[in-house]
Amino acid sequence: MDLFHVLGSGARFDKKRFNDDISLFEPQKQKKPVKNVVNDQETQASLLQEIDFFHNSKSAIIETLGKKQLPNERSTGNNEDDTDDSDENEGENEIVDQDESTELNSLNTQDNVKKFRKRYRIRVYGTDIPNPFHSFSDLHNKYEFQPYLCKNLDSAGYKQPTPIQMQAIPIILHGRDVMAMAPTGSGKTLAYILPILHDLNSHKKIGYRALIISPTRELAKQIYIEFKKMCVGKKFKICLLTKATAATQAQDPHLKQKFDILISTPLRLVHAISQDNIDLKNVQHLVLDEADKLLELGFLDQTDEIFAACSNVKLQKYLFSATLPSGVESLANNFMKDPIRIVVGLKNAATETIKQQLIYVGEENGKLTAIRQMIQEGRLKPPVLIFVQSIERAKELFHELIYDGINVDVIHAERTKAQRDSIVLNFRQGKIWVLIATELMARGIDFKGVNLVINYDFPQSIQSYIHRIGRTGRAGKSGEAITYYTKDDAPYLKSIVNVMKDSGCEVPNWMLELKNPSKESKQQLRKKPIKRKTIDTRSNYDKKKIKRKRYEF
Ligand code: ADP
Ligand code: MG
Repeated sequence: MDLFHVLGSGARFDKKRFNDDISLFEPQKQKKPVKNVVNDQETQASLLQEIDFFHNSKSAIIETLGKKQLPNERSTGNNEDDTDDSDENEGENEIVDQDESTELNSLNTQDNVKKFRKRYRIRVYGTDIPNPFHSFSDLHNKYEFQPYLCKNLDSAGYKQPTPIQMQAIPIILHGRDVMAMAPTGSGKTLAYILPILHDLNSHKKIGYRALIISPTRELAKQIYIEFKKMCVGKKFKICLLTKATAATQAQDPHLKQKFDILISTPLRLVHAISQDNIDLKNVQHLVLDEADKLLELGFLDQTDEIFAACSNVKLQKYLFSATLPSGVESLANNFMKDPIRIVVGLKNAATETIKQQLIYVGEENGKLTAIRQMIQEGRLKPPVLIFVQSIERAKELFHELIYDGINVDVIHAERTKAQRDSIVLNFRQGKIWVLIATELMARGIDFKGVNLVINYDFPQSIQSYIHRIGRTGRAGKSGEAITYYTKDDAPYLKSIVNVMKDSGCEVPNWMLELKNPSKESKQQLRKKPIKRKTIDTRSNYDKKKIKRKRYEF
């Protein structure tokens, strides 16, 4: 029953009730292989002739057959992608002698600080950069953090700070603006929660002093919960802005003075500002979580309005994301004051604990065949998150998979807020095994136990890829990500190959030799997804038959 072991704590199953469903996940005797699915090197090589749009099939075949798997070589071609960061990464893999670690922890010389940063793969850019700290006890000893914070860290089981926390916390505490880029699941939330709570000191009745913006409701709620966890024993008042909380604040002007911290999505907040229900003039800490998303065209106007409403001269701004493309960085430089840029790990790379795979499925319907084969072979170990490119396709895939006898659900913007909340909760508790999602779920959401992310539809940008697969492999755990690609996606394959290579995955040589897509074609894909055939593999008759069979029991 290793299916249940992988779910971790919180997952409770009624095994008797779900016996039929469970049996579908158990490994079965070898089934006939599905033609479309390619996951071994030789088949991939033989496919190359068919998918000749790579332009280099001949040499690739020879390479693939000659050298089995390839180490994580750097690309020789010109890398146009946002991941190109070769200068900055120099000396990246140098290992600091473990014997030096005690000495380094004292961080008393600039040389030690440099070695310490190298050891934790922290790179910093800017002027007068404060030193990182080494252990949570330093926060108490050096920065005089109140005991409640140390206690709450302990209760949460956070023993050591993560690299982004080591470096971002002192910078924020020194009153500086920050642009922080660190891998998915590496503890960015706590990196801003701790210094903010320390600085706020205690509850005051002067209105909001910290504001956190998140692109989705789901992430805003998660941040709210994390704040609450760290506030135990202290009387801070935190507001998660919803239609209801905004309405009550409109009715009672005194409520506006009551809260210390506000967490909101941009749209909800802009609406409240325009209705004069929210006063942001005392805000001193402004966080854009998933900053690159919030600075994309769709959100930019709203983010701009929020900035305008935060009029306090002491305002500090913090941008956090796993991906901050250079365009976003230069845009951010316009509104930040002498910011310090932190990059943990490789720029725009995926988390290293995630095993990444690209699987060629030929035509659209090869994807469903591939998933069904995984179910039959017991390889689909829940919880699994499946990403598709549109609400329409999410619904279509859901209608296919419910007939496969797995506990599947679907989340997208057209579901009600109550439904979305309950789906997230049920998925966290292991009641939903397979969750089909649109880009809505791609960022920030911390599902600790997710074993596998399937990109059913090829992501439209490398940022989308990094965030989607970052729903697994969180907080140092291992995870797996599978990306299906069809002939139509093949021209964009190299972008993902670059991310895989940079995050230490083994990639076959022929993939490394693919051409990078042009800037124009990448921009085009970002704007508009590839047109795909409807997801529908069963005839209506089949569906009825299977449905009837399931309900007979
Ligand atoms: P990110 O925002 O970088 O994607 P999160 O802030 O959501 O990551 O954190 C990912 C997970 O790591 C969360 O479950 C969080 O509770 C956990 N976490 C954060 N900091 C620590 C720490 N210092 N030690 C252990 N776990 C941590
Ligand atoms: Mg986050």
